[in-house]
Amino acid sequence: MIGGIEAGGTKFVLAVGPTPTGIAARHVIPTRTPAETLAEAMEWFAGQASIEALGIASFGPVDLDLASPTWGHITRTPKPGWSDCDLAGHFARGLGVPVGFDTDVNGAAIAEAAHGAGRGVSSLAYVTVGTGIGGGLVLNGQPVHGAAHPEMGHVFVRRAVDDTDFAGHCPIHGDCLEGLASGPAIIARWGQLLSHLPPDHPAHERIAGYLAQLCYSLFAMTAAEVVVLGGGVTKAPGLLDRVREGAGALSNDYLPGGARHRIEAPGLGENSGLTGALMLAEAARAARS
Ligand code: ZN
Repeated sequence: MIGGIEAGGTKFVLAVGPTPTGIAARHVIPTRTPAETLAEAMEWFAGQASIEALGIASFGPVDLDLASPTWGHITRTPKPGWSDCDLAGHFARGLGVPVGFDTDVNGAAIAEAAHGAGRGVSSLAYVTVGTGIGGGLVLNGQPVHGAAHPEMGHVFVRRAVDDTDFAGHCPIHGDCLEGLASGPAIIARWGQLLSHLPPDHPAHERIAGYLAQLCYSLFAMTAAEVVVLGGGVTKAPGLLDRVREGAGALSNDYLPGGARHRIEAPGLGENSGLTGALMLAEAARAARS
């Protein structure tokens, strides 16, 4: 058996299973302080069949540098108490098993590439649009870490010419993509979730237009075959089709690869990150043996 944790800012999803896609038991706990949350997670794993390895797909920012003394830590986060939390070390010591560690969105990306909407492709981006906007990237079958890990929400998109009455909601950048198109930005601007606004509300085109720019840019810059769009905002009826249309219009048939570039909903539903965590466990187990 292997174990997985999708560590999020509002909840931790825990699972054990024989394989990444064979979840035998699953449990959700609310994210409170690190001490409370990690103790509760450890207690749950202690009550399960023993595991040979654990994978953690975590909210960030995190340290993914294997040579760093703070590998496996959450680094500097505005989330109270969680800065410098040694997430991987806590479970490695507590459970006595090898631990694999990556961002939640890189976890979702490796899972979607292997078992979800991107089965059979070598390169895929997973973007979540919810409380924030984040993205993970798999290129040639490997998750991208680089200097740290991608931060796809805090990029700048071209504002629509008639979009002048909103300064943006990102405390750091104002009108970066997250400041324009995340759930909190939409609520700050229109008072409601996108899915609660009427279908003819201009918010739908506006948000789709900004997300289409991100998708087109990802295709252009990385040659990824698939961009998977997950997270609450992307469930608004018709949004995915609007984003596909918008990205197509931006490309204007220019991009090589043409129809090989696809924008898809998560093939693994709500389990992309958790499946990725279990894949990280599988890799950690293989690396140990
Ligand atoms: Zn920002």
